[in-house]
Amino acid sequence: MSWRVQIAGAGIAGLTTALFLARAGFEVDVAERALSLEPVGAGLQLSPNATRLLDRLGLLPALQAASVAPEAIELRDARNLKPLASVTLGDFAARRWGAPYLVIHRGDLQRILLDAALREPQINIRFGSEIDPSTNADLTIGADGVWSTMRARIPGASPASFSGHVAWRALVEAGHSAFADLAAQLSPTNVSALLAPSFHLVAYPVRQGQAINLVAIMPGKAGAEGWSQGVADMAPLPNDRSGALRDLLSGVGGWTRWPLYAVEPSGKWGDASGFLVGDAAHAMTPYAAQGAAMAIEDGAALAAALIASSDIASALARYEAVRRPRLSRVAGRARFNRFVWHAAGPIAIARNLALKTRDPQRLAADFDWLYGHDASAL
Ligand SMILES: Cc1cc2nc3c(=O)[nH]c(=O)nc-3n(C[C@H](O)[C@H](O)[C@H](O)COP(=O)(O)OP(=O)(O)OC[C@H]3O[C@@H](n4cnc5c(N)ncnc54)[C@H](O)[C@@H]3O)c2cc1C
Repeated sequence: MSWRVQIAGAGIAGLTTALFLARAGFEVDVAERALSLEPVGAGLQLSPNATRLLDRLGLLPALQAASVAPEAIELRDARNLKPLASVTLGDFAARRWGAPYLVIHRGDLQRILLDAALREPQINIRFGSEIDPSTNADLTIGADGVWSTMRARIPGASPASFSGHVAWRALVEAGHSAFADLAAQLSPTNVSALLAPSFHLVAYPVRQGQAINLVAIMPGKAGAEGWSQGVADMAPLPNDRSGALRDLLSGVGGWTRWPLYAVEPSGKWGDASGFLVGDAAHAMTPYAAQGAAMAIEDGAALAAALIASSDIASALARYEAVRRPRLSRVAGRARFNRFVWHAAGPIAIARNLALKTRDPQRLAADFDWLYGHDASAL
């Protein structure tokens, strides 16, 4: 069976879904509101549950050429920069979970997806445009992000609600004076997660190591949606008793601010006349670094459900049956990480002790359900 599908949004969810559907033989129209794709957004950690699916689309060589495969995720105490624990990645991750763990700029990932979509004769992309509800598509997909306008048309859909936290992001290019200090004090080949009460900062290389992506997350006010451009200085760092982190970040400028919103995955996702995927359906706070990975999983799972079903309603029911428990478990992990990473006092002491004493195999085993998952196996 081949259906005509239209998709609102050429972000990570929209493009991945279009590619999986086109490979399955469907005709896909994508309407993107922006006039062109700008390299906006932060760096992304792409875990093996996502790279396995992108590999199936034949995109792994392009991804590897644009990204870095970090050797480890290092957890450190943000107040003195001392290491707490390390989760081995690199070849170990690729062997254990069957696909690599990569870090990449969101703009680079979106460009790779877009280039692949433009090569696909079954996909038609229109920029500067929105979907036309009167067209005779068999399935209309809302992949229009956390601020989705399609969501408003779906009765019972969860709204986006402010998490109380704000992300501050900066990209430090190799030629910048702060680059050498960051690379020397935090490993330039690893993902570093610096934890303090009510605060964490993640640093990792992107653009083949030619830039370091910094994302700091702390309590803050909602403010305007999207990145606020041109914000020069980050809010004061909470709990920075030693000043080590303040010194490390003192030369970094050009911070942009992103209020973090989440969409409960338990809300209605719609039907064939309008069905939400990606952040539009289930935006999650970035504590588990899984928002884009879930958008990619959605595309693979939706295509698999449509291929395996004789009508669209039963395909969507099948998709929901596998995606809802998965998404609620991943959102639960993000909530847990927020609690543990931002802990203070005795909880933080217990966390640090547990992290120091846990052997690497047991730390890795804790991620098997997340990174070992194959979203297209229904
Ligand atoms: C600070 C931060 C760090 C993150 N880190 C990670 C990470 O390490 N790993 C990870 O997996 N995820 C991470 N994420 C999450 C990830 O960025 C998102 O989950 C992902 O981009 C969602 O993809 P999407 O396609 O659903 O939405 P988007 O990427 O937002 O795309 C939506 C698209 O729809 C378009 N659009 C909007 N409205 C319309 C309309 N009406 N009609 C047509 N087009 C429209 C937009 O222009 C846009 O192109 C992070 C998020 C933040 C904020």
